[in-house]
Amino acid sequence: MAILEQVTSQEAIDLENKHGAHNYHPLPVVLNRGEGVYVWDVEGKKYYDFLSAYSAVNQGHCHPKIVNAMVHQAKTLSLTSRAFFNDVLGSYEKYVTEYFNFDKVLPMNTGAEAVETALKLCRKWAYEVKGIEENKAEIIVCENNFHGRTTTIISFSNDPVARKNFGPFTNGFIKIEYDNLLALREALENNKNVAGFLVEPIQGEAGVYVPSEGYLSSAKALCEEFGVLFIADEVQTGIARTGRLLATCGNCSCEDKNCSKTPNVKPDILILGKALSGGAYPVSAVLANNDIMNVIKPGNHGSTFGGNPIAASVAIAALEVVREENLADNAYRLGKIFRDELSLFAKENHLIKTVRGKGLLNAILINDTEESSTAWDICIKLRDNGLLAKPTHGNIIRFAPPLVMKEDELMECISIIKKTILEF
Ligand SMILES: *Cc1c(COP(=O)(O)O)cnc(C)c1O
Repeated sequence: MAILEQVTSQEAIDLENKHGAHNYHPLPVVLNRGEGVYVWDVEGKKYYDFLSAYSAVNQGHCHPKIVNAMVHQAKTLSLTSRAFFNDVLGSYEKYVTEYFNFDKVLPMNTGAEAVETALKLCRKWAYEVKGIEENKAEIIVCENNFHGRTTTIISFSNDPVARKNFGPFTNGFIKIEYDNLLALREALENNKNVAGFLVEPIQGEAGVYVPSEGYLSSAKALCEEFGVLFIADEVQTGIARTGRLLATCGNCSCEDKNCSKTPNVKPDILILGKALSGGAYPVSAVLANNDIMNVIKPGNHGSTFGGNPIAASVAIAALEVVREENLADNAYRLGKIFRDELSLFAKENHLIKTVRGKGLLNAILINDTEESSTAWDICIKLRDNGLLAKPTHGNIIRFAPPLVMKEDELMECISIIKKTILEF
């Protein structure tokens, strides 16, 4: 068929520029195949993927177990809508709730939808259980957050590019500084109508900001003190990315050996997306216990595709892979090597200011202004040298490879990164 003829990289870029909305600024590389930690461009050049589709592909590209689950279910039954039951959703709901140790799950598709779901759930709980006066509920959020792109979510973003000319915005949010417990306490003390506190355990999009030791557990304790729901957005940090099943990791039923490490916080509402499907399919979820989730009644909320049989099958397979292949442990071990190696290198290299992260969610801070093109230029050179990464916020480069990476592969990647930076 003519429209599916093989195009060159330049032709593919030109087609997108001409016919697609310009809502992204991609690195100029056109991919057409992926396997494990590798992707290939249309000219056949092979790269290490150090973005993993913003941590959606934790299990590696085209993981055979996930692909098989998807193909099998696609050939059997793809979509019923929730007007009828299907024979996969219930099994998935049992599996995912036992996996993360919550009573119930509400299945959605994208991360933004799951965040919206959590906000609605939190508000409804506030009116019906906590007893806040109707339409008065407030939710505390953090500065420099990233929770998605819907109108309500950008209402509490402070990224001017994400907000400008998209108003009017949704009310009911209080913004405080991230990693600031005093600010959280003050917000809780000064507002009697707070229903919840929405937080990323590590701020990924903002540039991989890891909060101080103890921040999350103290924040959770404050929420308990004030009768406010602690809502963890683990869309990017969850599913083994940071070296544990969850970055909050409270009381989950995994056998993760690193669980004795802090934080050990159980969110009241847990938001998952991205790697919940291993990148094969849009699957997101909101998990909570009955005292919260039971406020949702038929007709209150929904989605045509949420909880469809393909999504349910794919998510079970994706979560099984995380356990079977010990991805949390691997991310923990390789992440430590990565930061140790690059921190050593940074001591002798003026171009890297900081190396930070947890597990395999890491970033380097380039010693230049936010407006400079240095980080972008480094990413172009990394591409030429066979490794794909992208700047987030000007002078920060995020490094987040698939968690199925092996140690020798990681060492090769570290030498590509060092060699590339030495070219500057
Ligand atoms: C990516 C992301 C989202 C939004 O997910 P989408 O699937 O793009 O809607 C929400 N929260 C966090 C922390 C994310 O990283």
